[in-house]
Amino acid sequence: MLSVHEALALVREQALPLEPRRLALSDADGLVLAEDVASDVDSPPHDKAMMDGYAVVSGDSDPARDVIEEIAAGSFPRRRVLPGTAARIMTGAPVPEGADAVVPVEQTTEISGGRVRLDAKMVVARQHILSRGASIRAGDQIVRKCAVLRPIEIAILAEGGRSTLLTYPRPRVAVLSTGNELVPVDQRPGLGQLRNSNGPMLLAAAAGCQAETIDLGIARDDPGVLRERIEQGLAADVLILSGGVSAGKFDLVPQVLSGVGVRPIFHKIALRPGKPLWFGVRDGGNKRTLVFGLPGNPVSSFVGFELFIRPTIAAVAGRGFIGRPEISARIRHDYQHVGGRAAFLPARISTTNAETSPELPDLEILAWRGSADMATLARANALIELPVESIRIAAGTTVRAISI
Ligand code: AMP
Ligand code: MG
Repeated sequence: MLSVHEALALVREQALPLEPRRLALSDADGLVLAEDVASDVDSPPHDKAMMDGYAVVSGDSDPARDVIEEIAAGSFPRRRVLPGTAARIMTGAPVPEGADAVVPVEQTTEISGGRVRLDAKMVVARQHILSRGASIRAGDQIVRKCAVLRPIEIAILAEGGRSTLLTYPRPRVAVLSTGNELVPVDQRPGLGQLRNSNGPMLLAAAAGCQAETIDLGIARDDPGVLRERIEQGLAADVLILSGGVSAGKFDLVPQVLSGVGVRPIFHKIALRPGKPLWFGVRDGGNKRTLVFGLPGNPVSSFVGFELFIRPTIAAVAGRGFIGRPEISARIRHDYQHVGGRAAFLPARISTTNAETSPELPDLEILAWRGSADMATLARANALIELPVESIRIAAGTTVRAISI
């Protein structure tokens, strides 16, 4: 059976970034930039006062100065400041010619005759002035290709004059839950039924990856119904199905996917929970859809999403094939891992304060009742990663986990 590592390599190979598109700056938060961007202006655009006060000549020893004008932010000085004079200036306003220092208003006293007194010995050249272009010069690269656009980048791009940008589009991720036993959340399950919890979980997880989500609801285990919904889902960049990929009589998903032209890449991996995971690709024209069939049991679905789909959405969005960060922790108890398959088991990591306790956090593997046990998963904040080999782990050993 395929190892998790091999399966990840196969998915990574197919998870190519989407074709970049031009977008309004206001729609770009969270996306990845697909071009280098330079500023078309200096920042600040002029020598800028950083305090409310008086613009003066720093070498001038005269404590009293004639106030020759008042410069507010948004206005431009008309008069040159000479020794013996000062211009009243507000934060952000352009420093007038001749002046080379700003004295904060708190360090001055107004005196009669439109004059101001200050302590000339305390004035240092360039004080409280940010020089033109000190932050950015026109033509400087301000944000590079592949940068994730946070509010910070949005601000600097706005300052640099970019109202539209070439970005990798937000991936569209469709979620379809399959199974005759499923009812929607707002219904009380009848005999043999249960509520669809994977659908809402996977939609929330995809939305958390900055994807645009498409809820395809619940499909019965019927080839015609499945086919119709899957075809709808193939309009997305990533289609996630839950259920119907195991070996049961009503596990129809793989054959229906093949029937609509989704090329199977793998089915079943040496993973616990999540062994029946199915992956394939549909290429239609210049449109590619990556299709994942997750096992229906909720913990398996969750693990499959974290290991395979989270990095896929990131890669398609131009961020690279990157999932949740791995962390090291110290296991608190002995553990016998049966092996045969790699395992990602619900675990709880104690929160540590890096300042007061620099050692690794403690990890406890939670006793769980199999891949339908969502209550235990809900108490977990990590998945411990265990190898294919059977191993005995002694308390105190450093282990690897992903935080969830
Ligand atoms: P399957 O992978 O289709 O064989 O489903 C295995 C089991 O997972 C089912 O018997 C259900 O108990 C459970 N299951 C399947 N789909 C869902 C779902 N969407 N939400 C919650 N549990 C599900
Ligand atoms: Mg099923």
